[in-house]
Amino acid sequence: MQYRSTRGPLDKNLNAPQAIIKGLADDGGLLVPTKFPSSSLPIENLPKMTYQQIVHLILTLFFNDFTPDQLQKSIEQAYGDQWDSQQITPISNSHSNNYYLELFHGPTLAFKDVALQILPYLMTSAVTIEQISNKIIILTATSGDTGTAAMRGFSNQPGTQVIVFYPHGGVSPVQLKQMLGQRGNNLTAIAIEGNFDDAQTEVKRIFNDTVFNQQLQQNGYQFSSANSMNIGRLIPQIAYYFSAYGQLVDKGKIKVGDDLNFAVPTGNFGDILAGYYAKKLGLPINKLICASDENNVLTDFFKTGEYNRQREFYLTNSPAMDILVSSNLERLLFDLADNNAELISKYMDQLVQEGHYQVNSIIKDQLDRQFAAGFATQDQVSQEIQRIYEADGYLIDPHTAVASFVTNQYQASHNDKTPTFIVSTASPYKFPETVYKAITGKPVSSSGLAAIQDLQNIIQQPFSNNVQALFNQSIRAEQIIQPTKMEETISKLLTSTY
Ligand SMILES: *Cc1c(COP(=O)(O)O)cnc(C)c1O
Repeated sequence: MQYRSTRGPLDKNLNAPQAIIKGLADDGGLLVPTKFPSSSLPIENLPKMTYQQIVHLILTLFFNDFTPDQLQKSIEQAYGDQWDSQQITPISNSHSNNYYLELFHGPTLAFKDVALQILPYLMTSAVTIEQISNKIIILTATSGDTGTAAMRGFSNQPGTQVIVFYPHGGVSPVQLKQMLGQRGNNLTAIAIEGNFDDAQTEVKRIFNDTVFNQQLQQNGYQFSSANSMNIGRLIPQIAYYFSAYGQLVDKGKIKVGDDLNFAVPTGNFGDILAGYYAKKLGLPINKLICASDENNVLTDFFKTGEYNRQREFYLTNSPAMDILVSSNLERLLFDLADNNAELISKYMDQLVQEGHYQVNSIIKDQLDRQFAAGFATQDQVSQEIQRIYEADGYLIDPHTAVASFVTNQYQASHNDKTPTFIVSTASPYKFPETVYKAITGKPVSSSGLAAIQDLQNIIQQPFSNNVQALFNQSIRAEQIIQPTKMEETISKLLTSTY
């Protein structure tokens, strides 16, 4: 399997290990298979398969430059007993025709773990295959979930070092505790005086700073990335769509071949794109429902075919979805445009230069057929958390609530009776302040761990092991720097480990 850029010509193909190490194409495009696998996965076998077996089938299709043994070992280590659930991504019932697909049973309590538990193993295997002797520096800007999950995944992985920058005061109390509590001899998290965009902009600049990169190279280092544009994160996520389907067949709720909808709380479009890839691999999906918060650029896009980033940016109670440029959408458009890199290049240039682009009618027709979209305001998120708690005695986090609200809205306005999975991307205990207020109507007087405890006092259910583990972490002191000092700080960090 070869990979190419969504923007570039066909002649610069990479194999999977190269694509995973590289992260992004040189021309700024995203790496995608030159030719999508034509085989369908055996749907009828899904109910009997373990999560690990499903991942193995999928990785074998896309990452066939790895040896079966490398894949097998990576999967065993990534999806072992650090998960609170044997199914890895268990499903939960509801009183209605809707189900929850719980992606938050990993060590950092959010869906990023599904990919970031396996990426480090794929990365170190890739380094072996490509015979790279440099140490790989994973450089990441985070608004919370990615940084924690990357540190946890890469902790003590030989030949790698993780450096995470996050906005000072811009992550939730639980996320801060998680980042400062990660243990490993190769992990650093540093706060910057600025917001997430400041961190992200500077990280991108450092990635492209030729002089700095040459200097690193001379000292035996090179950068790689663990963000959701990395194909090594996207492909493993396809597995939970198949697993969810198999679990529902196993419970007797659907028959093999029946259609399902998936409603996905969307930020950078990685999660929902994995669903689209699952559909291309033969999973019977009717609609993928793209759910956004008040940053509803995607809702407008699916409605009009125009992507317009020129709008106000809102910080909401679903912070992982506060985003105006959904990078992985580019991969969907590339596929819907029949791999027309020239067209995608044109759209992406327009987005940078004019702040918007309009897709052609062929692409728009495909979007209409395969997707639905909607958004929820912060008040609607709170009401939805409350409504589901009242109806089912089930707690959902704010991101999941966005998808749950949009699903209801969609089902009320369309005559679509397809059973629907609401993809649940974070544990409610990761956002205790919002969830507490939603179900009690009163703000919680505590924050962070104390708020988790206050929430549990109402719910009266035991913590999972991974929630309990939060209480046993000791944390380091926070280090805060100016964004202009990021490069210098990286230099110093690496020099001290030469
Ligand atoms: C990252 C994240 C999302 C958004 O996922 P994308 O793949 O970026 O669309 C949604 N919910 C939570 C809790 C997340 O951490």
